[in-house]
Amino acid sequence: MPKLVYDFAEGNKDLKQLLGGKGANLAEMTNLGLPVPPGFTITADACRAYLSTGAVPAELADEIDHHVALLEQKMGKKLGQADDPLLVSVRSGAAVSMPGMMETVLNVGLNDDSVNGLAHQSGNPRFAWDAYRRLVQMFGKTVLGMDGEVFEDAIEAAKQAKGTRNDLDLDADDLQRLVGTFKQAVHDHTGREFPQDPRTQMDLAIEAVFDSWNADRAILYRRQERIPADLGTAVNICSMVFGNLGMDSGTGVAFTRDPSSGQPGVYGDYLQNAQGEDVVAGIRNTVPLAELEQLDKTSYDDLMRIMATLEGHYRDLCDIEFTVERGKLWMLQTRVGKRTAAAAFRIATSLIDEGVIDTGEALGRVKGAQLAQLMFPRFDADADKDLITKAIGASPGAASGQVVFTSAAAVEAAERGEKVILVRRETNPDDLHGMIAAQGILTSRGGKTSHAAVVARGMGKTCVCGAEDLDVNVAKGTIAVDGTVLEAGELISIDGTTGEVFRGEVQVVPSPVVQYFEGTLAPDAGDELVASVHRLIKYADDVRRLGVRTNADTADDAARARRFGAEGIGLCRTEHMFLGERRESVERLILADNDADRDTALAELEPLQRDDFLELLDAMDGLPVTIRLIDPPLHEFLPSMEELAVKVAVARERGEEPGHDAALLAAVERLHEQNPMLGLRGVRLGLVIPGLFAMQVRAIATAALELRRRGRDPRPEIMIPLVGAVQELHLVRDEVERVLAEVGGGQEIPIGTMIELPRAAVIADQIAEAADFFSFGTNDLTQTTWGFSRDDVEGAFFSRYLEKGIFAVSPFESIDREGVGALVRTGVDRGRATKPGLKLGVCGEHGGDPDSIHFFHEVGLDYVSCSPFRLPVARLEAGRAALPAE
Ligand code: ADP
Ligand code: MG
Ligand code: MG
Repeated sequence: MPKLVYDFAEGNKDLKQLLGGKGANLAEMTNLGLPVPPGFTITADACRAYLSTGAVPAELADEIDHHVALLEQKMGKKLGQADDPLLVSVRSGAAVSMPGMMETVLNVGLNDDSVNGLAHQSGNPRFAWDAYRRLVQMFGKTVLGMDGEVFEDAIEAAKQAKGTRNDLDLDADDLQRLVGTFKQAVHDHTGREFPQDPRTQMDLAIEAVFDSWNADRAILYRRQERIPADLGTAVNICSMVFGNLGMDSGTGVAFTRDPSSGQPGVYGDYLQNAQGEDVVAGIRNTVPLAELEQLDKTSYDDLMRIMATLEGHYRDLCDIEFTVERGKLWMLQTRVGKRTAAAAFRIATSLIDEGVIDTGEALGRVKGAQLAQLMFPRFDADADKDLITKAIGASPGAASGQVVFTSAAAVEAAERGEKVILVRRETNPDDLHGMIAAQGILTSRGGKTSHAAVVARGMGKTCVCGAEDLDVNVAKGTIAVDGTVLEAGELISIDGTTGEVFRGEVQVVPSPVVQYFEGTLAPDAGDELVASVHRLIKYADDVRRLGVRTNADTADDAARARRFGAEGIGLCRTEHMFLGERRESVERLILADNDADRDTALAELEPLQRDDFLELLDAMDGLPVTIRLIDPPLHEFLPSMEELAVKVAVARERGEEPGHDAALLAAVERLHEQNPMLGLRGVRLGLVIPGLFAMQVRAIATAALELRRRGRDPRPEIMIPLVGAVQELHLVRDEVERVLAEVGGGQEIPIGTMIELPRAAVIADQIAEAADFFSFGTNDLTQTTWGFSRDDVEGAFFSRYLEKGIFAVSPFESIDREGVGALVRTGVDRGRATKPGLKLGVCGEHGGDPDSIHFFHEVGLDYVSCSPFRLPVARLEAGRAALPAE
């Protein structure tokens, strides 16, 4: 077993996997010489060992003993020492910060004896009893799994008995009585006494942290954020410092710059005479951090100096937790701070301008997912709006929906496909399900650092908080504001940037970032966010090796894609060219029982399709357009079997002759397949239905020829779907070449194939002989590799698979590197072994997925192709993939 416990002085910020983010950064601050209360970290290895064996590793107890002894020495007091006890906090902390993990237990080490020692030693009995009641409360709730309301209610009752609403009015006697009540509650609810032995308290808390890795909320969050299920969490044991020793003490949170805009400045909240989470829990009103300067100039100056040190050291926005104990500042946590998507871009370019990082590093710090978020619509400034209140814009976006007051109601409504806004006084970790289900979150209490704000920003969900004008009554299901009352089900709209809340649904307009991509907003028009996006995406374009094409079937889509930066079309599906009014011709084609009828039907379709191609090739003039010949099974173009059967039966019932319908029904029955995904489709159709592919090729070639005559530069490429044997491709290729020769004009049109069957990937060396290019169809390749019929499996059991950790993300969303990815790699290697210059692309939905784009870069594809709206994301991520490894 490797070493399982590290003193804070032994770690550093790069040991996140082992020590968790909190532990690694506590170590980093310790080594920077900042005032961090001494302590140690139990590694995530220990947690993993515990989770896999169900028992704490034997060596752990000894290592903890050793480090407790060192800590006692350093602090000059012992755990459980009756006259002056050493107290610690037990804090969870995984490599990735994660709501849902066990909450921290403070003041571990106090008991019925040492509480008196602490009272005496501090000269402040109120403080000692406050610390003890907090320990029993936090221990009961998080370690023993009791309902937190048991304790809250008791505090509420004590305040009421005292005729006050302020927790500070409770004196030492009140708090001592509360401890008695709490301990009784522990006994009633668990059948056990509150443990008096400090080491037992610590061990139970440590195990509870380990167990919380597998709490429902943690599992849900990991799934949402695609965090692997087997990382485990570290545990930090940190000697206590006290912000609840009086008005010269307090606790606060801070950011080194504004987390929503990226502007430098003093951002944070401070609460006097308080401990731990009080500052974000909304028990009393906090003061803005800037006011600390008046309250305690020394601590304020120290904090400003330390914040500058941290920003300089981490070269990024940091967030911070601190406590002031009788005029002395202590640092309790820092990390590179979470930020909104807009702030990510703006901070990145500000840091370039400040000379802190270079453009490559800046590009590395913004993500495609963040860019995607910036492309969501905004409320229309000119729309009629009924403003109810304006509060704190905590997480940007524009969301409308029906008011719901509980997480359960949000989940139910979302399941019915309804849009909702979750309205709460404040949120807590139990609201995670509802927050995921809702379009947006509105709270009446808490600020930019409240639970709702932090979690919403992490999820990229719109959030307005601290709307104190709203009287939210969850029990009654009403929001009262200015004499009016809103009830559940009523529509409201919230603007997470401005903090505005509107009654009713508000019209939305494209975001400035989309306007920039559309070319209607210039990058230097004064919008700082747009300027940042422009700089970073241009840099991505400069450094990326992957080309970026789009999947587009129509001239309109193609034109938008061009504006968004498409360098060609990677996939034009031709299915839509057989739909609409053209159905009749398709029916005739399918029903034809002789060559003449079939040729007539094809002749009807050809000019229509030629016109489609004319428009499309014109819109993409000068850029490659990969056109896939028809792929889906033919029955998809016919009415449903049930519908026809009913029609025919009804006609017969009425004594009428069903004629055409009966013939159609017979055709549908003939074409019916048990498993159409694996049936008569793709290249198989082209080989079985004479003239079908030839008609499409003729339409493409004549359209291109016509454009060329007009002086244009059409660049069609013909792509054959679902090839599994090189013989299939040879046969089709011969036919395509024959048609191209007939059309004449000396056009060189590349002929390639999709690689979307495992067999095609495996024999790619053979297939390359007959192909001018490959395009990996990773949707079908995923279906055929896993044996998953996407439409059937996603709804039926994918959520179970995700829960059970069989995969961390659906293989249809992000490429399965080990399986499907290995086939792509094989296809690349074997294809290029035959033809070193073979052009390779990907046209599945994975072409717009950040992780997959990095994979396609690694395996050496030439381009990715994605939907028009994903293009900016693909450009950015292709650029990031090309950055030198750190
Ligand atoms: P989280 O992961 O939710 O940030 P933390 O472990 O940081 O949880 O702790 C919760 C609260 O308790 C924070 O406000 C933190 O600053 C405070 N806290 C943690 N350890 C100590 C300590 N040793 N002394 C004083 N306050 C502490
Ligand atoms: Mg913290
Ligand atoms: Mg396919």
